[in-house]
Amino acid sequence: MPFFNVREAGGMADPLHDEAATVAALAQVGAAAGPYLGSLADRPVHDPAAAGKLAGLTGPLPEDGEGTAEAVRRLLDIGTATATASSGPRFFHFVTGGATPAALAADWAASLLDQNSFARVSSPFAHETETVALDWLRDLFGLPAGWGGALVAGATFANFTSLGCATQWWGERQGADTVRDGLSGLPRMPVLSGGYVHASARKALQMLGHGRAAVEVFSRDDVGRVDLDALEARLAGLAGAPAVIIANAGEVNAGDFDPVDALAGLAERYGAWLHVDGAFGLFAALSPRSAPLVRGIDRAHSIAADGHKWLNVPYESGFALIREPARLGTAFGMPGAAYLPGPQDPGGGYGLYGPESSRRARSLPIWATLAAYGRQGYRAMVERHLDLAQHLAARVDEAPELERLAEVPLCIVCFRVSAPGVPEEELDRWNRAVGEALITDGRVFCGTTVYGGRVALRPAIVNWRTTETDIDLFVDVVRELAARTRPQLP
Ligand SMILES: *Cc1c(COP(=O)(O)O)cnc(C)c1O
Repeated sequence: MPFFNVREAGGMADPLHDEAATVAALAQVGAAAGPYLGSLADRPVHDPAAAGKLAGLTGPLPEDGEGTAEAVRRLLDIGTATATASSGPRFFHFVTGGATPAALAADWAASLLDQNSFARVSSPFAHETETVALDWLRDLFGLPAGWGGALVAGATFANFTSLGCATQWWGERQGADTVRDGLSGLPRMPVLSGGYVHASARKALQMLGHGRAAVEVFSRDDVGRVDLDALEARLAGLAGAPAVIIANAGEVNAGDFDPVDALAGLAERYGAWLHVDGAFGLFAALSPRSAPLVRGIDRAHSIAADGHKWLNVPYESGFALIREPARLGTAFGMPGAAYLPGPQDPGGGYGLYGPESSRRARSLPIWATLAAYGRQGYRAMVERHLDLAQHLAARVDEAPELERLAEVPLCIVCFRVSAPGVPEEELDRWNRAVGEALITDGRVFCGTTVYGGRVALRPAIVNWRTTETDIDLFVDVVRELAARTRPQLP
């Protein structure tokens, strides 16, 4: 019996088994793709004039639906007008990648095939694709064979997955089974990091029951650079009790790095677990120019990174890489349901090696983009972004009213608008005004941060579409808006 909004008589309907209607709806999306993608290079990142269209989404839940074609038409009409063009070349806020052609097409294919990547038993195809995708990622970043991992929704979940394994390891070191018994009765797990630690690592610790205050920060300045001596003194003070170190490979304000190699040395000397948050910074490994920034990652126990940032695959895509992959099944298996395989069973799979159980085949866009462009394609993209970041830094340096606040080791340029005689609080206010004006203006997109106590802009360049013209436009728009919002001196 058909059940998709068939009105009894005469109403519009989507008869079941009318595949032509499905294919027609997919064709609607395909037809919208060309104009939308074609507009990305020039459209405003954010079009305030289109915001009124969002009202078209609201209304009561329909009793009788309007049918596939009309629903999809309306959604595309509103979406292509109001979407943030963050997959375009001029979105420099957060750290936001776009989608390569192969990744975008493969992401559509993931919906078409609608696999449950829970386990081999639910989809041998998705399982095999994930195994290959993870191994290609491992290889891309120069990690030795034997490492394994899991694809997750983003780096927050990659931090969660990694620190979940670390928690299981930490319990084991003191004869406890945290997977079975939780944390009760145990001391707090010591987690040591520098000031670059990302909010999502704290969130992961909060979700794992350690509490976000579990992180002990050892920082030697107001920017957050790690204080290795103080961190080592704390490790020594633990007198052999196991601890977790978080190294930050790519910090979000200026793209700076903790000295991973030195932290790996400390982890080895004191028997600690080393976790590296390399959400975007892990991609430094792809170019000989930036690879020294991640020297030592192969000595880590776990690494978290994002696919939806510098790999340029669509949301949601992150991955955790683990030196001893068997820990994933130990930490995230769910034995005891008779109808499900266990992590060690031949029918088992990635739903038992990470936090999610039923999951979409997010391996497909990763596999496709790596198959399409290869190691050299990604190296070339990263190097182009390194060049663009240096170009932006040079443009900032030559503009009298722009002041660069940090070195540019990777893909982020941290700077502010500034002028002689303007007091610091007034500079902060001015920079916030420029940040707000940028977002309202919409031609380019960038947010503010506070770096070393000063309000600053921090554009991040990780989108494959971005060109030097986009960077030049960004600088021109910032200078124009800085002039417009410039404080009047008494
Ligand atoms: C973006 C980011 C995260 C969080 O990633 P999500 O994909 O948003 O979950 C974690 N760490 C760093 C350093 C990041 O840049």
